[in-house]
Amino acid sequence: MDDARSMEYPPVANMTKRLYVQTWGCQMNLHQSEGLVGVMVRAGYTPVDRLDLADVVLFNGCMVRQKAEEKVYGRIGAVVEEKRTRDVTLGIGGCLGQIHGESLLKRFAAVDFVFGSSDHSSLPALVDRIRQGSERLAECARVHTVEELPYVRNSRVTAMVTITEGCSNCCSYCIVPRARGPMRSRNPDAILREVESVLESGAREVLLLGQNVNAYGTDQPRFDGFASLLRRVAATGMWRVRFTTSHPRDMSDDVLDVMASTASICNHLHLPVQSGSDRILAAMNRGYAVEKYLRIVDAARERIAGINITTDLIVGYPGETEEDFAETIALLDRVRFGSVFAAKYSVRPLTPSARVEDDVPEAEKAGRLERVLARQRRIALEQNEQLVGQDVEVLFEATARHGGCIGRATDHRTIVAQGGMPGELATVRVEAASSGGLSGSVLVREGIEGRQ
Ligand code: SAH
Ligand code: SF4
Repeated sequence: MDDARSMEYPPVANMTKRLYVQTWGCQMNLHQSEGLVGVMVRAGYTPVDRLDLADVVLFNGCMVRQKAEEKVYGRIGAVVEEKRTRDVTLGIGGCLGQIHGESLLKRFAAVDFVFGSSDHSSLPALVDRIRQGSERLAECARVHTVEELPYVRNSRVTAMVTITEGCSNCCSYCIVPRARGPMRSRNPDAILREVESVLESGAREVLLLGQNVNAYGTDQPRFDGFASLLRRVAATGMWRVRFTTSHPRDMSDDVLDVMASTASICNHLHLPVQSGSDRILAAMNRGYAVEKYLRIVDAARERIAGINITTDLIVGYPGETEEDFAETIALLDRVRFGSVFAAKYSVRPLTPSARVEDDVPEAEKAGRLERVLARQRRIALEQNEQLVGQDVEVLFEATARHGGCIGRATDHRTIVAQGGMPGELATVRVEAASSGGLSGSVLVREGIEGRQ
C-alpha cells in the first residue's frame, strides 16, 4: 500500500521541461498522480521515469501511516544530491502537503513548494512562479472541490475513475477526512462520459474509486446511489468493472444484487473490517459490529458464486488486548479472505485516537502483525491450491518480469501465464499456486467475444 511507485514512460531527448512524479499510498493517490501528470503535460512538460533526468520533481505523499510518511522524507535526499550539480525544482504534496503545509518548507531546505490534495489544475502556474524565482511557497486549497483533470493514465488496460473524493466518516484512527476533506460525489454523467472515453481509447477494465463507494450520492440528493451508478457503468460495454473501497456500514444488498446479475462486474469485494473485536470496532467508530460484517459476507457468498472477499486490518489499536486480537484471528478463520492488507496501528496527527495513549508495545504490535500475516498466508495458499487444474478467465495487464504475462482473474487473484498479451482476455488453465497468486497457461484467447 505504501510502496513508492513512479510511472513508466518512453525515453525523451533534448526536452527542457521534464517532469518526474513519484507516488506513495493508495490507488486514489496513484490516480491523482495521473491527474498531476495530465495537467503538467497540458502545460508543456514531458514526463520521464527517472528522477535524475527531471527539471521538476513532484512527490505525491501519503499520510495514512507513519511509515508511509517517513518513506517520502527518505526520498528527499535523492533530490538534494541532484541539486548539488543542477537546477531541479522539488514540490511535495498530496495528503502530506495538505496536513503539514508550510512546515515542510521549514523542515526540508530542498523543498521548493508544497501542494495540497486538491486544486491540482493550478499546479503548473505554481511551478512557473517558483521557477521564475519566487520565494518558496506552500499552496493548499482550503475548500475541497471535485476536479475534472486531463489524466495521463499509467495502464492502458485498467483505467481508474474517481466517483467520490474525500471522506465524511470519522474512523478514529484515520487522517483521510482531514487530508482530503468531506466526501464529494462526482456527477454521474461526468463519470459515465469518462468511462466511455477510456473504453474508446482501449481500456478493458474500469476501477471505480472512492474511500467509501457505498456512500456514493448520499451527499447529493439529485444523484442516485452506488447500485444505480454501477448498473450504468456496466451498461457502457466495458469488459470488466471493479470498485474500491466498500465500507461495511454502508454496504447494501442492492449492490450485491447488481453484482450478481451483471457479468462484467468482477467477483471481488474489498471490504475492510479493521478488527474482529466489537469492542475495538466501537472504539474505532467504524459503525458496525462483527455480526453485521459476517451477514454481508454470507449474503455476498450466497448471491455471487466464487466471490473473493479481501480486507484491511489494523493490529495494536490502543487498548487491543490479546483477547481482542484472538477475535481478529478467529475472524480470519471464519471468513477466509482471499488476501489481507494488515498494518500496525500508528498515531496520526489530528485524528481522534491521537488523544488516546498508543499503549500496545511496538514488539507486541509486530508480533501480532506477523501472526496475522502467517495465518493469512496459509489460508490464501489453501484457497489458491484449490484452483489448480481449473480454468479461469484472465485479463492480462502487462508482461511479467520473468517471462509470460501478468493479469487478474475476475476475482482479483493475480495470475502469471505463458502465451498472453496485455489487454487480452483469455481462459487460463491454473497449473500452480502460491500464497501470493497463481500461474498457468493460456488455453483459449477470447478477445472481446468472451465478454458478450
Ligand atoms: N477508506 C478505506 C480505507 C482508507 S485508508 C476504508 O474505510 O476502509 C487504508 C487503510 O489504511 C485502512 O483500511 C486502514 O486499515 C489503514 N489505516 C488507516 N489509518 C491507519 C493508522 N492510523 N494506522 C494503521 N493503519 C491505518
Ligand atoms: Fe478513513 Fe474511515 Fe474514511 Fe476509510 S472510511 S477513509 S478508514 S475515515
